[in-house]
Amino acid sequence: MAKAYTQAEFDSLIEKMEKVVPSTEYLHTVNGGGRHYTICLLERKCVCGRFKVDELPCPHAWDVLKSKFLMPENYCSNYYKLNFVVMTYDVPEIPLLDRNNWNIPAHVAEEVVLLPKWKRPPGRPKKKRDKPFSELLQPKNQHSCSISTFIVAKVHLQQHLQLTLINLKHTVADFQ
Ligand SMILES: [Zn+2]
Repeated sequence: MAKAYTQAEFDSLIEKMEKVVPSTEYLHTVNGGGRHYTICLLERKCVCGRFKVDELPCPHAWDVLKSKFLMPENYCSNYYKLNFVVMTYDVPEIPLLDRNNWNIPAHVAEEVVLLPKWKRPPGRPKKKRDKPFSELLQPKNQHSCSISTFIVAKVHLQQHLQLTLINLKHTVADFQ
């Protein structure tokens, strides 16, 4: 039996439903569960990341495809399609013969494979920290090491040149 809704209940249900808003021909925004998901059908990406990683349309992409009456199988990787799975096993596989019957060329059989020369140092390898994107966008500090090092080096060079000049003047004066 169908349930009767009040106008307020109906409006609230409609608001909760996922809405697809096209931005351009390929870009769409899906509003669902209080969040906005942007989907690019051309690049087969969604902000949730599943569309790109799984190479299958995520629920947000499904909403876009449904709203545009597009065929979902055109947005799936070929690896999920039956004919491609069948083609995987189309190549004949020949099992190896007994090891005694292997025909190994002499230059391969004579080759000696040694252990690597270098051993990994003990301890856990140091991990490099990946900077967050916001940190990469920030301009470099004016007093960063490279600039301050350059200024200090310039001052030292000026002092050194002045001292050398004074020493030269004294030496010249001693000779006269
Ligand atoms: Zn998604």
